[in-house]
Amino acid sequence: MDRLLLRGARVVDPASGLDGVRDVLVAGGRIVSVAAGITERPPVTIDLDGLVLAPGFIDMHVHLREPGQEHKETIASGCAAAAAGGFTAIASMANTEPVNDCRAVTEMILAEARRHGSVRVYPVGAVSKGLEGRELAPIGEMVEAGAVAVSDDGRPIEDASLMRRALQYARLFGIPVLAHEEDPSLVGDGVAHEGPVAARLGLPGWPAAAEDSMIARDLLLAEDVGGRLHIQHVTTGRGLELIRWSRARGVPVTCEVTPHHLTLTDEAIEGFGTNYKMNPPLRTEEDRRALVGALAGGEVDAVATDHAPHHRDEKAVEFRQAPFGVVGLETAVPVLLDRLVRTGEVPLPALVAALSTGPARALGVAGGRIAPGEPADFTVLDLERERTVEAAGFRSRASNTPFEGWSLTGWPVMTVVAGRVIHDSR
Ligand SMILES: [Zn+2]
Repeated sequence: MDRLLLRGARVVDPASGLDGVRDVLVAGGRIVSVAAGITERPPVTIDLDGLVLAPGFIDMHVHLREPGQEHKETIASGCAAAAAGGFTAIASMANTEPVNDCRAVTEMILAEARRHGSVRVYPVGAVSKGLEGRELAPIGEMVEAGAVAVSDDGRPIEDASLMRRALQYARLFGIPVLAHEEDPSLVGDGVAHEGPVAARLGLPGWPAAAEDSMIARDLLLAEDVGGRLHIQHVTTGRGLELIRWSRARGVPVTCEVTPHHLTLTDEAIEGFGTNYKMNPPLRTEEDRRALVGALAGGEVDAVATDHAPHHRDEKAVEFRQAPFGVVGLETAVPVLLDRLVRTGEVPLPALVAALSTGPARALGVAGGRIAPGEPADFTVLDLERERTVEAAGFRSRASNTPFEGWSLTGWPVMTVVAGRVIHDSR
């Protein structure tokens, strides 16, 4: 039943260390075999000569906006954007309206994703009820309903004792706590990285210490209670050093970085473009280089987009007033291939690992490997395809991208979920 042969691709599978031309046979939504020169010819054969076949990319940090803010994005449009961008699975953050802080909302997201979604959707439940940072949400019932992690993302967990209890509870249910690291008392009304650029522009600063001090706090808490901590969107070299220090002490902390923090710095805000306003903010060139080095060296578990759709009108205001956040699902892969892989700064297998194997492991979900028995989820890349980013053509309802007009070489051209081609632009 539904047998499919993907023939002649350069298969890059970091989990097994494979990087070579292979055929991949699929049946019933799963991988049957991976070998050179498979002779079986099932009803459907897809020729992938000259293309890269990678394990399906998983974006572990996406804001779908449904329920509650469907003018920005819906589960259907977010999934379509993911498929077009080469992602086979996404984790959806809890800051919807209502907040995903109970079984009913988790179930609603999964039901809607089954009805209208093309990619796998992994709901992330809230840490605290209403994201208010006061009382723990019912983590057990959300996990039962299908939540794979908890996070108050969009907001930090200010109360250290609440964070401590979240780590303890999440540990009981075998799920990670995904942490948005920000000390609000240090950020104040900051809207851009505190440094010479913000000073010159007269913008209130968002100091790096506001992120790093919270990372340090949570690493210590995770060490004490043994929970699984995942640090979201790390932006500073010092944050990475803290994570390294904690790992050396045996704490199994994981972390992610975003495509925009890997490729842009606070210089980008010179023109007050609100599509360069994100939280955490774009940092210095030194920080950016540290993130790229950590990605190349395999210290970064995941590249995650923090896809944060906003309506055009909401971003079309003065820099200080604009909401934080940028979309990323449809630009992440080409931006990273063009700016980091083509330049030789990050080896392709390291990038593939951070887009597949790493997030699968950090979230504890299936996928991230091209091996018999694994789900037949794949991302196909054309490393020579050249195209210009045009937000007008996005599947996402939103167009708040910092990469508009960038000419990029290396694009995802096919997305396969459970053996079904859900996007094909070869
Ligand atoms: Zn965040």
